[in-house]
Amino acid sequence: MMFEEENTGTILTEDGKLVITQAYCHNGHDLISNDVKISGFPSIKLLVTGNDNKKQDIHISAVDGDHAKQGGRGFKENQLLTISCPVCEEELDNIAPCDCIKGSKFVAIYLNKKRSFTSCLGICNSWGCYRSFMNSAWRIISRLADKSARQN
Ligand SMILES: [Zn+2]
Ligand SMILES: [Zn+2]
Repeated sequence: MMFEEENTGTILTEDGKLVITQAYCHNGHDLISNDVKISGFPSIKLLVTGNDNKKQDIHISAVDGDHAKQGGRGFKENQLLTISCPVCEEELDNIAPCDCIKGSKFVAIYLNKKRSFTSCLGICNSWGCYRSFMNSAWRIISRLADKSARQN
């Protein structure tokens, strides 16, 4: 059995994988889906809207670095999507721009109900972009600092 650290929202498996076990929208709705397992673990369920304004549920892997997902039929590579909570249907919080294509951004999946960027997963809203990161405040700050440094 794996050991779950208290309140971190993640577990470390015996083979060294970081797995998210708690995921919430900014309103505190639970995004973990026990019904759909991806790569052996409960997945993260999201509501995604494409250009045609059709909403569909997708499930992404809760394993850090794992790009496996289910759903998203009809989406094109690099298409910008609106990523929302499947419960309240509100768009997830915008954290920072992503570098992959113009207009892309990271949105926040919180690892606890506190709506704190110090404990969240950022995922890019561009379909097929595999950038995501586990956040701590300093990582976002250094990311933004990188950006402004480049513009000078
Ligand atoms: Zn919600
Ligand atoms: Zn991206």
